[in-house]
Amino acid sequence: MSTPEPAPAPHADDFATGRPIAFRNATVITVDSAGVLDHADVLVVGDRIEAVGPGLEVPEGALEIDASGGILTPGFIDTHRHMWQTALRGYGGDWALSQYFVFYYLQWGQVFRPEDIYAGNLLSALESVDTGVTTTLDWSHGLRTPEYGEAALQAFREIPGRFVLGYGNYLGAPWEWANAPEFRRFVTDNFNAPNDMLGLQLAFDVPGAPEFPERGAFEAARELGLRVTTHAGVWGATTDTAITQMYDAGFMDDTICYVHSSSLNEQSYQKIAATGGTVSVATESEQSAGQGYPSSWAIRKYGIPASISMDTSVWWSADFFSAMRATLSADRSRDHLEAHARNETIVANRLRAEDVVHMATMGGAKSLGMEDLIGSITPGKKADLVLIKNDESPAMTPILNPYAHVVFQAGTADVHTVVVDGKVVKYDGKRVGLPLAPIAAKVADSVEYVRGQLGEDRWFADMHPEITPDEEIENPYKYTEGDAHVTASGDDR
Ligand SMILES: [Zn+2]
Repeated sequence: MSTPEPAPAPHADDFATGRPIAFRNATVITVDSAGVLDHADVLVVGDRIEAVGPGLEVPEGALEIDASGGILTPGFIDTHRHMWQTALRGYGGDWALSQYFVFYYLQWGQVFRPEDIYAGNLLSALESVDTGVTTTLDWSHGLRTPEYGEAALQAFREIPGRFVLGYGNYLGAPWEWANAPEFRRFVTDNFNAPNDMLGLQLAFDVPGAPEFPERGAFEAARELGLRVTTHAGVWGATTDTAITQMYDAGFMDDTICYVHSSSLNEQSYQKIAATGGTVSVATESEQSAGQGYPSSWAIRKYGIPASISMDTSVWWSADFFSAMRATLSADRSRDHLEAHARNETIVANRLRAEDVVHMATMGGAKSLGMEDLIGSITPGKKADLVLIKNDESPAMTPILNPYAHVVFQAGTADVHTVVVDGKVVKYDGKRVGLPLAPIAAKVADSVEYVRGQLGEDRWFADMHPEITPDEEIENPYKYTEGDAHVTASGDDR
């Protein structure tokens, strides 16, 4: 067997030429029936995956990326991210859900201007493509008027990722804004032609009011042919009552994504399963905010397809490796605890790293209704790819179990190359163009504005919610003076 002459490494400028791209000698996690391929090549021509396999012949002039020692995966897909909140990254790290609701829903969300939505979305969109999340659903519930929606879209037009705007406005009634002429105009102005780089869904919640006014919003979604994403099974906010209302009205089908779904009863899970719905599991969110236990553990036995999401960076990270890791760990943790309660021992973990990689890729594609387009490295699909490779990282050596390596070993610092729609947006660990500085300046302006609106006292107080201290427990095992052990130990050390 002859080894082809290695091609020279491409320069970042070469990617603007639109030449075919060949990844050489990668461990390819296809997330399709081909499974994992060792020492395989992937050829990208235009916006599509042209071929996958060992020793591929590539067209003349193809740019060749040495992927040896790396893992090539489909681009990750986040099905629920409040991108507009990213300008306040980390601000609410110690919040509980009630503090989040008060801050955004009752008080300070209302001071956000369209330019604040734009700044947050820009930063979040850049972070997505930088870290290998090639498709992100923006759960954008701060869109008080279509002008805010235009600002959200503007950010997506400037960052070369794949986005779906989940249009929402928690300050308005969804059955009203979804049927308002100005919203309908926004839809026809921006979504009059099919565009798989920029999609639209309706984003609203169903709190369970007896008259079920959200009926009008579901009808609008059907009329416009839009999918719906809704926070379901959120402890104290959206309950089984909402699922019952949706089910009885006939609105549950495979176009609905139920975010969290972490505190629902068996009947609700069965209704989601029976109607083909999907669940977006946001483990880091559920662990900190308390919507309920991260639901991958519960929904598995009903066969409900799951995807993964980060929710909001105002609290925790937007790091998808962290999301995968937390999801696998939380699922197993619950299995162990349930077994211990029965005085049993888990001898084989049920959720596998492979399952979580599937949730992070094809699971997301299914949730967005894009499973024929993205989510796997399959010839004919759109070329959304992530090369995880870092030749100097001890954590990337050796690679023995590729799925487990992605979930438990790799990190964002190992994202070497990112391709979206056939376009290289990151190569050799650096973004191609797309500097942070102009975006950081817009974010700084937004922070200064919001902080000015709050005033320094509120800014500080809302960042540091009061803590109810743990109840102190008397410890009977403390040595007391005169105890033989204490006096015998002496001071002669
Ligand atoms: Zn959310």
